[in-house]
Amino acid sequence: MADGFDAWEHEDAEARRARKFSRMRAMLEDGYRASSRMRRILDETGLKPADFSLAADLERLPVISRETLIQWELSEPPYGGLVDPAAPVDRIFISPGPVYEPHLSETDALWARAYHAAGIGKADRVLNAFSYHLVAAGLTFHGGLRRVGATVVPSGTAGAQSQVELIRDLGITAYTGTPSFLMAIIRKAEEMGYDWRKDFRLKRACFAAEPLWPSLRETFTRDYGLDTYQMYGATEVGDVAYECREKSGWHVCEEVLVEICDPENGRRLPAGELGQVVVTRFNDIFFLMRFGTGDLSRLIEMPCPCGRTAYRLDGIAGRVGEAVKVRGMFVAPSQIQRLAQRFSGKSFRVHVRREGDRDLLVVRVEGAPGTPVDGWAGDEEFKRGFREICTVGVDRLEWVPQGTLAATDRPLVDEREWR
Ligand SMILES: [Zn+2]
Repeated sequence: MADGFDAWEHEDAEARRARKFSRMRAMLEDGYRASSRMRRILDETGLKPADFSLAADLERLPVISRETLIQWELSEPPYGGLVDPAAPVDRIFISPGPVYEPHLSETDALWARAYHAAGIGKADRVLNAFSYHLVAAGLTFHGGLRRVGATVVPSGTAGAQSQVELIRDLGITAYTGTPSFLMAIIRKAEEMGYDWRKDFRLKRACFAAEPLWPSLRETFTRDYGLDTYQMYGATEVGDVAYECREKSGWHVCEEVLVEICDPENGRRLPAGELGQVVVTRFNDIFFLMRFGTGDLSRLIEMPCPCGRTAYRLDGIAGRVGEAVKVRGMFVAPSQIQRLAQRFSGKSFRVHVRREGDRDLLVVRVEGAPGTPVDGWAGDEEFKRGFREICTVGVDRLEWVPQGTLAATDRPLVDEREWR
């Protein structure tokens, strides 16, 4: 890590690519020396760490799922041969599985970029409502908050009433934890007779570990005057991406290599296509390389008005396994739900069929063609919106009578038969 926790955030694409690849090569070299598992993998693939340079080399390494990690740890406890046995480990965390993870170092700055981007700093007194017990969350978020200079109140999993009392007594200015727990705290405060906006100074919230649904975000903003931020990571690899003030995608952290890969074969996909988020955290203790998070997302290449140059993740579209592959591209049910929010006046369902050698994407829409309703400005606009959100294009719109598509039905139906 460079000196500042915001280092490299304005680097150009070529310099960033070169820096990350050379960091990756160093990790492969260290891994070959220190991790029995990495040595085996590299020997099997014939990849020499010193020769590593291209994206194509990366694809020779397997994507490691959480299930694989658990198997490795069971067969070779505690770390599945991924950790240097001589490494100075200051803490060991446990996550369900169980998976044992070494804390990487006392000086790392996990999550500091995210808190900095959310405007949290020295003047803040932050309630950290992530659990400190066994799991990595509490202490890791704590470290990030300290790194930006904030004062941390380690409230962890204390009950909602205690959290309200801390917010009141200590003049808490920001919250970090899950969105659902913050809502429970707010409800408790109201039950105790407080007026959230008038009685408290808490104005910012940084969330992780749970999706922040747009309607909940709106409630936080509109009803409680909260400025909310999303942070994304995984317990195995730490922070991966974070939201800036633009709130339009999550910037990829500088200390990780993030790839969007085809869940079936681990191949890297171009920006804009949906695939599995695969992460390598640069470090010299835990040689977990190309960890498959099981989450689906896509990369946004477009420059962000905030000035940070790192690509952004376009939220999480769901889990690997829910997605359907159409003409080589993945489409997830959550993308169809996003589409449904945009075109809220119509009920529709997406069908994937096979016609000859080609996948056909048919959208069945309730109603009669050409009848304007709220949120439906026309077929062409719908098709444009579909391409924007799902990357692939619609082949045909089919109009069906009102009431044909039950609201509870699956939004995405794969009708292809695989033989
Ligand atoms: Zn930005």
